[in-house]
Amino acid sequence: MRLRVLGCHGGESPTHRTTCFIVDDVLALDAGALTRGLTVAEQARIDNVVLSHVHLDHVRDLPLLGDNVIGVRKKPVDIYAAEFTAQALEKHIFNDVIWPDFTKIPNPSDPEQRPTLRLMRVTPRQTFQIGDYTVRTVPVKHPVDCQAIFVTTKAGTIVYSGDTGVTDELWEELNKLTDLRAFIFEVSFPNHMGKLAQVSGHLTPETMAAELKKLKPQTDVSVLLYHLKPAYHDVLKAQIAELGDSRLNILRPMDEFEF
Ligand SMILES: [Zn+2]
Ligand SMILES: [Zn+2]
Repeated sequence: MRLRVLGCHGGESPTHRTTCFIVDDVLALDAGALTRGLTVAEQARIDNVVLSHVHLDHVRDLPLLGDNVIGVRKKPVDIYAAEFTAQALEKHIFNDVIWPDFTKIPNPSDPEQRPTLRLMRVTPRQTFQIGDYTVRTVPVKHPVDCQAIFVTTKAGTIVYSGDTGVTDELWEELNKLTDLRAFIFEVSFPNHMGKLAQVSGHLTPETMAAELKKLKPQTDVSVLLYHLKPAYHDVLKAQIAELGDSRLNILRPMDEFEF
């Protein structure tokens, strides 16, 4: 399983990109950098997107993806999302006001004239299959519905936490896995901003390290940190280094991993 990081920050600047990961060039986890991070030809190869939640930094490139690949792809891009997220996308983004409704407009290059984007409702905790990938989501703690995403192939499982504050069910599910290869985990604000982190459903290096103690057995799995807020990147880096945990890696856009 090949994991490519297109974006891994909780904000944007010329050197920071909002969240988006690609598995094997065909499956996207969130869409914060799908169009910014890929050529149009590469965008057209994305068959499926699984969303953690509807916050703009995780869905912002979906409207532009629809626009770029209509007339190029011959079948819809399937977007897997929990009910809350799917409804919010329909109501607030693909509503023919903010953006044309690419979940309804027929794609002229599709022999069946289906729309370019298709919203696939996912029930949390239920396993579903996307080609070779076995996927399920687990609710985490954030101000809006947010789901951690578990992706399993023969090579093992990678887990993406989504945006979360202090949570429990995620750790229970992680601790049941025997094939965990990588865990993409959030850390957003520096330690002195713990209050803001708490009310916004995010973690600081301190609370992230306390959460990681719930991972048992504490295997040598890579912990790939994302969602650092650009304004605090340097102080976060220093505070993460102070933890002295060799499992921790701070992700950078265009990082690639093979599992
Ligand atoms: Zn976010
Ligand atoms: Zn969020």
